[in-house]
Amino acid sequence: MATGKIHAQTTQSNIKYIVVSATGLGIYLHNPAVFGMIAGAVIAHWLTPDYDLNTIQYTQRMLIRKCWIMGWAWRVYWYPYSILCAHRGSSHTWPLGTLIRLVYLLLPLAILVYCYSINLAGLASWVGFIFVGQSLQDWSHLRLDHIMPYAVFTQKRNRRGKVKLGV
Ligand SMILES: [Zn+2]
Repeated sequence: MATGKIHAQTTQSNIKYIVVSATGLGIYLHNPAVFGMIAGAVIAHWLTPDYDLNTIQYTQRMLIRKCWIMGWAWRVYWYPYSILCAHRGSSHTWPLGTLIRLVYLLLPLAILVYCYSINLAGLASWVGFIFVGQSLQDWSHLRLDHIMPYAVFTQKRNRRGKVKLGV
């Protein structure tokens, strides 16, 4: 299994390819929302499927080192997620795991939008492209974990939904 550092190095290096791809695609489609892919790639670099572990992850440790208060706020925010999700359960599936993390991340924004009736319909395509960028990074993570991202329904899982490795 890849360590958190290997996952972080891989997703860090993926970002430049996603920047080039998103730039080309954005220019070709004349759609600035495509740049949401870059945001998604950066988000998924810091927000890995391994947040389902109830320990401080490599990227969380890096955030704490960079900015103590922001790093701990980030850790505390994701603590319930680590309690609720079994390691390598639904968090390590695509698209469900990626979608759960994106919804969890945007939950405070969604509450504000709902409470203050803010119209963010124009941002829907941005969120879609953020999901694409995040998905690319999550696929990379899942492949390093020897999990086939697109074989969600065919992989053997135990009763808690965890992938049985080596099957
Ligand atoms: Zn993992």
